[in-house]
Amino acid sequence: MGKVLVNDQLIERTEAVIDIEDRGYQFGDGVYEVIRVYDGDAFTAEEHLDRFLQSAEKIKMKMPYDKQQMLDFIDLLIKENHLHDGSIYMQVTRGTTSRNHIFPGNDIKPVLTAYTKEVERPKEKLENGVKAMVADDIRWLRCDIKSLNLLPNVLAKQEAMEQGCYEAILHRDGTVTEGSSSNAYVVKDGKVMTHPATNLILNGITRQVILQLCQANQIPVTEEAFQLEDLRTADEIFISSTTSEVMPVVQLDGQSIGDGKPGPLTKKLQTLFQEKIEAVKTQKM
Ligand SMILES: *Cc1c(COP(=O)(O)O)cnc(C)c1O
Repeated sequence: MGKVLVNDQLIERTEAVIDIEDRGYQFGDGVYEVIRVYDGDAFTAEEHLDRFLQSAEKIKMKMPYDKQQMLDFIDLLIKENHLHDGSIYMQVTRGTTSRNHIFPGNDIKPVLTAYTKEVERPKEKLENGVKAMVADDIRWLRCDIKSLNLLPNVLAKQEAMEQGCYEAILHRDGTVTEGSSSNAYVVKDGKVMTHPATNLILNGITRQVILQLCQANQIPVTEEAFQLEDLRTADEIFISSTTSEVMPVVQLDGQSIGDGKPGPLTKKLQTLFQEKIEAVKTQKM
């Protein structure tokens, strides 16, 4: 089970207590991050923590710790739990107080929690690709915030699972936004396209790494909204997230994409992503 973080304390998971009136529990009033750990090293941790702080700011919550303190918490968690390959989940809620929609006063402190989990990389899926389905994007208009409120995402992912799919790719009136827990891309005529980082999507850290990799390697890329029609007729589709990395989508609503195998540009980006993981590690050694 290992140790978990509660505020600035590292304690045994079995000792950790969250109050029934924690606002995260009652209102989903909080934000979170998932950070990947490769070979004992937190990948793009600073970028995740910058976004964590931004998400908190967007919901008008004052984070009780700064970035450096949280980086230290992460390192401590990895070391104490001997985490090798896995992930760190971190969330902050607006604290514990008598239930009331209105924000509590400044005497109520946010509750920061984090824990680690050993998880293998999804090697087989990365190699062979996954199936996806299309679903209505019924979320609110601040999808740029990594909020704890995930009910629409949960419903879409459950639907995908019931259809034998790995992910639901969401659209608003035919405009593709992103996956239920990933960003979505199409490749057409050698060009990568993904929804711009507006309020309608969560600007993934993996997405930002992919955009940089495209730019650094002369792979044409545009942040431009595309339609369901473009998705269905794409040469390649892939999705990205911290845990899914660069994941090929080889079937959409039961129809093969391209020749039904991961496409060349998707595979190229997987290779570049792998090199990036290794480069980051070497840099730190
Ligand atoms: C977290 C998340 C992503 C992926 O972001 P990463 O930083 O790459 O993990 C994409 N979409 C949604 C809705 C998310 O919650």
